[in-house]
Amino acid sequence: MTTIVVLGSTNMDLVAYVAHPPKRGETVTGRAFRTVPGGKGANQAVAAARAGGDVAVIGAVGSDPFGERLRHALEASGVDTDLLRTADGPSGTAHVVVDDDGGNAIVVVPGANGTVTALSPGDETLIAAADLLLLQLELPLSAVLDGAAAAHRHGVRTVLTPAPVQPLPPELLAVTDLLVPNEHEAAQLTGVADPLGAAQALLRQVPEVVITLGAAGCLHASRDCAPTVVPAPLVRAVDTTGAGDTFTGALAVALGEGRPVGEALRWASCAAALCVQREGASTSMPYRPEIDASFAPTHAPEDDTP
Ligand code: ADP
Repeated sequence: MTTIVVLGSTNMDLVAYVAHPPKRGETVTGRAFRTVPGGKGANQAVAAARAGGDVAVIGAVGSDPFGERLRHALEASGVDTDLLRTADGPSGTAHVVVDDDGGNAIVVVPGANGTVTALSPGDETLIAAADLLLLQLELPLSAVLDGAAAAHRHGVRTVLTPAPVQPLPPELLAVTDLLVPNEHEAAQLTGVADPLGAAQALLRQVPEVVITLGAAGCLHASRDCAPTVVPAPLVRAVDTTGAGDTFTGALAVALGEGRPVGEALRWASCAAALCVQREGASTSMPYRPEIDASFAPTHAPEDDTP
């Protein structure tokens, strides 16, 4: 079983549904409200655990009632939360306004996530025993750097999702084994709009890149082999929230199992395609049997019956 540590954020998403978002000074009446456990770290942890990984999360929830719910949501998907701290004060929150056109506006308040500025000795021990460490940029950069450096010291493969996108310090790039931006993040990081060109630019900084391309699939590029595009399964998408985190969590599991990279990418694409066909983010992430079932028909062994 692949052992994965996720060093990342947990947020409660507070989602209001409105006909149109309020302008400054305006009050509008919403149609519905939901609280949904989220945060990129927690979402990748849930995705990887449901995909069959042995997953632990390092981060922090607050001492408020959201903190308990966030912890339980992770545990319900099989994520180990022993090293998820409870910090005095509020949990991280994402205040989301979704309008009738499906557009959204989001304010993220880091809360407890902002208290994770460095690793503890216990965190480093856990990371040292893992196959992969998954990182994003919703925790203070000092903790991300600490975690990636610790993984590198122990020969643990690091997978970085550069979101929310920001310039990446050279010391972080130096300890990143696989970078997984979406096409917008890749363009912003490199100033190159074309994904192939962006991948080539990124390969000057990290050894391997997967750029996700939404419904068009993903582009894999590494210093060792020619770039390839892996198309996504053709499905009817109803909600693409969480697609990238589902993809990355599943990809980490498959890579940790030693599956060839092309197969791992196709399997992760099947996981993400299942996620986009359902409403929700962490709630719509598929479990392993479903991923295997949707992967199998397209990858049946050669028919050798006479
Ligand atoms: P993010 O969610 O981070 O913005 P993308 O939109 O690139 O990332 O989506 C991540 C992955 O999810 C894609 O590489 C693809 O595998 C899958 N995906 C996203 N949208 C669709 C879709 N409409 N149909 C099938 N797969 C999708």
